[in-house]
Amino acid sequence: MSRTLIVANWKMHLNTSQASLLLHRLHERIKIHRNIEVVLAPSMLVLQPLSMQIDRRKFRLAAQNAYHKDEGAFTGEVSFTMLQDLVHYVIVGHSERRLYFHETDEIVRDKVTAAVRNNITPIICVGETQQERRAGETRQVLHDQVVSALANLTSQDVENVVIAYEPIWAISTFGGELAKPDDVKKALDFIRLQVSSLYGKKVAERIRVLYGGSVDDHIVSGYLAVEGCDGVLVGSASLNYHKFSGIVDAAYRLRHQEDDEDGNK
Ligand code: PEP
Repeated sequence: MSRTLIVANWKMHLNTSQASLLLHRLHERIKIHRNIEVVLAPSMLVLQPLSMQIDRRKFRLAAQNAYHKDEGAFTGEVSFTMLQDLVHYVIVGHSERRLYFHETDEIVRDKVTAAVRNNITPIICVGETQQERRAGETRQVLHDQVVSALANLTSQDVENVVIAYEPIWAISTFGGELAKPDDVKKALDFIRLQVSSLYGKKVAERIRVLYGGSVDDHIVSGYLAVEGCDGVLVGSASLNYHKFSGIVDAAYRLRHQEDDEDGNK
């Protein structure tokens, strides 16, 4: 069974000292667990100082974005190559980037390709808008986004990427309606089915698929308990150390329960 991945997307919040304080508090609260991986995605500016402070047994770092060219005259951009020694993961195609910064499926594909080329694991966000959901287009949207994002990768590459299903209507920026765990299960199953038909069953079993809609410490267990859900991508609740450590605790409890059940078999 793969490790449960809990990703904190701090978005454009927290300067260096605020981020450092939050990390300090999380460090005190969060225990090491062999089956849980906690990933922090601070702003680009904060990655370097945080990398000096971080306990690598407990946390990994992610970038929230990067540019798909390795180097060149691209004023204001930071490349995956520059991030190589700093981060394990990069979030690609988050809905805020797709909607506010007009990132198309092609741009997302180029970024995924660049991440893999630079040995950084992409966390690829896919998901439908409220309008697409109401029009019954969820599957079509997921299909198109998944196929396009993975287009330049080999099966071996695909095994190692992470896909986050973020129904756009269920993230706080765009309404924050609560998704039903049953509906999340259908979407996660559908994503795996697409991966299976393109790259085979083994790859689909190995790829990690997260839930990326709004969660907090009270409701997260309902999503983590969904079969085939390998973790969560957390937005606003990750800025609050009580809530975020509560989310990690919930993941611990579930994994302990599973470990105990496996031990009793
Ligand atoms: C997100 O942006 O992926 C997200 C889940 O945000 P929030 O938790 O704030 O809804």
